[in-house]
Amino acid sequence: MKRAVIIGAGVAGVTSAARLAKAGYRVTVLEKQPTPGGRLAALRRDGFHFDMGPSLFLMPPTFAATYADLGERMEDHLDLIRIDPTYRVHFHDGTSLDLTGDLATLTERLEAIEPGAAIGLTDFLAGGRAATTSRWATSWAATSTTGPSSGACPTCPFCSS
Ligand SMILES: Cc1cc2nc3c(=O)[nH]c(=O)nc-3n(C[C@H](O)[C@H](O)[C@H](O)COP(=O)(O)OP(=O)(O)OC[C@H]3O[C@@H](n4cnc5c(N)ncnc54)[C@H](O)[C@@H]3O)c2cc1C
Repeated sequence: MKRAVIIGAGVAGVTSAARLAKAGYRVTVLEKQPTPGGRLAALRRDGFHFDMGPSLFLMPPTFAATYADLGERMEDHLDLIRIDPTYRVHFHDGTSLDLTGDLATLTERLEAIEPGAAIGLTDFLAGGRAATTSRWATSWAATSTTGPSSGACPTCPFCSS
């Protein structure tokens, strides 16, 4: 049996290990921290739970493709519920900003804080879309059996556009 060694049990290492195992490799994952997860770490103290890393479920097709490559369906494992606001930013002057997935509302809120911000937001989203549909998508499609645009996740703005 072929063997593979993965350094690091972050999401990249774990998904790579799973794919290699599915492909028939005997995989060893080495992690220097006491628990897996990498930047997905959580801090539990005094009955409280703090997520130390990601808040937003970005690029759902990547996750859907990973499950598919492993012979599973993401929706059989995750109950995804869209929340709004996605999160609240508190500023030093006591004001706050609720981030939302509703683009029109988000644009209004950003414009209220910084006139002209809508253009920056549009550029930012266009850049993300271009990166997702070109460089990343192309390299992903070359390695994944499902690719990023399998339509597996209807919640993704990139899929539905
Ligand atoms: C504060 C914060 C907020 C974020 N918010 C979001 C978000 O909202 N949405 C989103 O999609 N992404 C978000 N991200 C990014 C996301 O968390 C990372 O892109 C992702 O977790 C990276 O995974 P990874 O496996 O590539 O690397 P890592 O998670 O860094 O994993 C690398 C692993 O390798 C281990 N390692 C390193 N060197 C060695 C070694 N020599 N020997 C053994 N083990 C080693 C490390 O301990 C670690 O566990 C956020 C990140 C941070 C920090």
